[in-house]
Amino acid sequence: MYVDSHCHLSFPELHERLPELRREMATAGVDRALCICTTLEEFERVHALALAHDNFWCTVGVHPDNEGVREPGLDDLVSRAGLPRVVGIGETGLDYYRLGGRSVADMEWQRERFRVHIRAARASGLPLVVHTRSAGADTVALLRDEGQGAVRGVFHCFTETLEIAAAALDLGFDISFSGILTFRNAQALREVARFVPLERCLIETDSPYLAPMPHRGKTNHPALVPFVAAALAEIKGLPVAEVARATSANFERLFGLPPLSGLPEKI
Ligand SMILES: [Zn+2]
Ligand SMILES: [Zn+2]
Repeated sequence: MYVDSHCHLSFPELHERLPELRREMATAGVDRALCICTTLEEFERVHALALAHDNFWCTVGVHPDNEGVREPGLDDLVSRAGLPRVVGIGETGLDYYRLGGRSVADMEWQRERFRVHIRAARASGLPLVVHTRSAGADTVALLRDEGQGAVRGVFHCFTETLEIAAAALDLGFDISFSGILTFRNAQALREVARFVPLERCLIETDSPYLAPMPHRGKTNHPALVPFVAAALAEIKGLPVAEVARATSANFERLFGLPPLSGLPEKI
């Protein structure tokens, strides 16, 4: 019924509980999950999750916050993008939230890394999973400049303004909402969610981070994504089943997956 379009099941706190977490997913009606890569060093572990479970898929990419890791070249990304069950490039993007005493001008290395990922998306034809924090305008500008209208994808764990959401939609990107949508102080984000058409919305946990209410502060995991769907349903004034159906269909369309009915019923 539900899809978690962005989770980090390769991270130790989730990976070591995988059988239990998969049982909880089944109980909660969370049929599928996309396992997101954040370093090249981590890729094999993420890919192994997707190879071992027919309701998991994965991406390849290096997160903008990761420093001191292997810097990806175009070939590193494109070669892995061609492997079975790799359906996206990312997570990638820009994050000016933690500058650590540096200026935005000092972050050229991050912009260059993002450019390489956008080129990899163009070369492979796979969608981009975009992380953007306190860097919305530059993110949109780079996607426009480097993507040349030929790249699709999703702005994940969206926390930017209505203007950035409109620009992302205009570029052909979808918007994914996380448990932040359930936080009491997230009124501005709820306004963004009201504005984004349902057929352009995805839902995610970004687990192990950002557990939705009423689990805020605990370790997040894919079985909690229905709380995000419920929040979105309330904002849209729709039944939660309609939000589940639409966000799952949007996920299938964006990542080029068959509808679940075409897959074996195996958890
Ligand atoms: Zn992210
Ligand atoms: Zn993430």
